[in-house]
Amino acid sequence: MITFEELGLDEQLVKATSDLGYVNPSAIQEKAIPAILGGTKDLIALAQTGTGKTAAFGLPLLQLIDKDQKYPQALVICPTRELCLQIVKDITGFRKYLPSVHLVAVYGGSSISLQIKDLKRGVQIVVATPGRLIDLIERKAIHLEEIKYVVLDEADEMLNMGFQDDIEFILQNTPIREYTWLFSATMPNEIRRVTKKYMTDPLEITVGTVNTANKNIEHQYYVTNAGYRYETLKRLIDYNPGIYGIIFTRTKVDAQSIAEKLTREGYDIDALHGDLTQQQRDKVMKAFRDKTLQLLIATDVAARGIDVQGITHVINYELPDDVEVYTHRSGRTGRAGLTGISMSIVHSRELNKLRLIEKIVKLSFHKMDIPSGIEVCRKQFMAFMNKVLSLDIESRNLDAYMPALMEKFADVSKEEILRRLSVMEFDRFLNYYENAPDLNMRDAPRRERGAREDQGRGRERDRGERSDRGDRGERGGRERYSRDSDGDMMRLFINLGTKDGFYKASFLQFILDMSDLKKDVLGKIDMRDMNSWVEIDKKSANKMIKAIDGKTYKGRRIRMNDANSRG
Ligand code: AMP
Repeated sequence: MITFEELGLDEQLVKATSDLGYVNPSAIQEKAIPAILGGTKDLIALAQTGTGKTAAFGLPLLQLIDKDQKYPQALVICPTRELCLQIVKDITGFRKYLPSVHLVAVYGGSSISLQIKDLKRGVQIVVATPGRLIDLIERKAIHLEEIKYVVLDEADEMLNMGFQDDIEFILQNTPIREYTWLFSATMPNEIRRVTKKYMTDPLEITVGTVNTANKNIEHQYYVTNAGYRYETLKRLIDYNPGIYGIIFTRTKVDAQSIAEKLTREGYDIDALHGDLTQQQRDKVMKAFRDKTLQLLIATDVAARGIDVQGITHVINYELPDDVEVYTHRSGRTGRAGLTGISMSIVHSRELNKLRLIEKIVKLSFHKMDIPSGIEVCRKQFMAFMNKVLSLDIESRNLDAYMPALMEKFADVSKEEILRRLSVMEFDRFLNYYENAPDLNMRDAPRRERGAREDQGRGRERDRGERSDRGDRGERGGRERYSRDSDGDMMRLFINLGTKDGFYKASFLQFILDMSDLKKDVLGKIDMRDMNSWVEIDKKSANKMIKAIDGKTYKGRRIRMNDANSRG
């Protein structure tokens, strides 16, 4: 693996990256930094958010600027205030051993006079949002005459937000601009046009597949009735006890009202939308970054440019109309090498839109069942009990209290203690989920009836009951697979699941690699915590079982067999 040093960066910059904990350059850094340092003047870099773009331009920029001159030489333009502050923060980290370099953030919604004062102190790098920058140009508070380097970050976002004219105005007002670097996750025609007009023979580099969402992200969808959207949202949150996530809504009103409703119900959530004052926004963002807020609910515009590490889930309360917007939303998770899940709550009428997104961003969504009340409670119990079991009880001396406690609990069984603990901790959940309805919108009634009767479930239907008895996995599974199991496909059981660290995509890769089979022999995959079921062409099933059954994974024996032959 290549090092930062080998990219041609000065010692002070290499040291700073190592202080930040960067071990090796990311793919975009590996491509962009040597190109820029090697004399490339115009650069188009296509990379998703979260790939390390800021260092890809920030580090070479710091190396190239004339540190002895105290006027603006470099201009970084980005779509939002949040991104602006993030870039300044990152570059400030990179300039740690370059004390003579100064930079300023210029963005709307904050005191312009303070920013003017900062500019007067003599800075080499200006990081700005387009609107405020133009404001400063018009007030003659900033001069772009000496700007040699221009970076356009998240160019596609800027165009989405209607900044095209502003960007062109800025580019036209940098008369001695020598270097233009454009970073974008996607490459719409308008950007091509801008690059043609303002760049000469640009070097184009790509990381990953353009227009494709990050592959560290698992895309899931949940089909429900429009009237169950809110309940489904709650259930998805409850089913993921450690969630640290962003929920996207289409309107400010939704964001605000859902935040209020969930807050009343005891969730750690706040809303971010255009009606908030800058101060309110800052407060919300700070709480979210500090993780005192577990959930943020936001509109697309308000959430632009948010870069928060470690987001586990993005939930699309509704699908966006625009495919690009989906990519940006889901890109808030799965950043910097971590994995994340993007969940979409959809109504059956929105399935076409989902297919369109799948096609354009070239990824496949996994259809998931909305968990039943019992599954949610089980998951919560387990998360809580895992916490209990992992407590460090050795570090506390409880000897003085134990005899009395032992006596008190002398006749109380382990089971009773667990029951008591569960009620104490989960009364709210148990109450709420006691008679929770099935929120899944099932297949069309005729097909559903056929499938159920095949399984001898006619009686249950006749009684009109859809009770949750913890058998949703089996029922859901059989319903979905019954038709195929009569044809060329069959189902295999395997004792590996999400608890083993797999997502569907990685699991699929794993079983295919082990058995040396091609993806097209597989059908649906149904994953649970501990077990999974895979649909496979009957002709390939034996080969897969032979290759996998009895092998070990992380020290555990793998069991794989025909799902229908199990007990
Ligand atoms: P960016 O796309 O610039 O917003 O970067 C996403 C995140 O990855 C930021 O939090 C960076 O601090 C982090 N990052 C960037 N480059 C590296 C690297 N080479 N190694 C580890 N983390 C990095």
